Amino acid sequence: MEREIICTSCPMGCHVTVTMEEERIISITGNTCARGERYARSEITNPTRTLTTTVAVAGGGVLPVKSDAPLPKKSIPQYLEKIHEVTVEPPVLIGDVVIEDICGSGVNIVAAQNVI
Ligand code: SF4
Repeated sequence: MEREIICTSCPMGCHVTVTMEEERIISITGNTCARGERYARSEITNPTRTLTTTVAVAGGGVLPVKSDAPLPKKSIPQYLEKIHEVTVEPPVLIGDVVIEDICGSGVNIVAAQNVI
């Protein structure tokens, strides 16, 4: 089986082909550099994403937030559930930690905008 992955590690966006036999990776081709191989391997074994969403602001409105590092894609619903329980009190500044070490992941959820 072959899987096509677009490497997002840099703007070149190489099309990387991962050839698999059952769960085992047999070959990785199409990447221009070693980062592409690492990216493809990670996409197959443990894909991660930077999480962006919003939290409620006390008194009305929403605050855009994001993870300060990529999180495992398979656990995103669990993280979203936790994030959506939160209401922040202004003022909040860009980069302020809204949730520290979400679900023991070692990753923080931080404000992506100021709310004064
Ligand atoms: S394989 Fe290398 S050159 Fe190609 S998109 Fe990924 S990081 Fe960029």
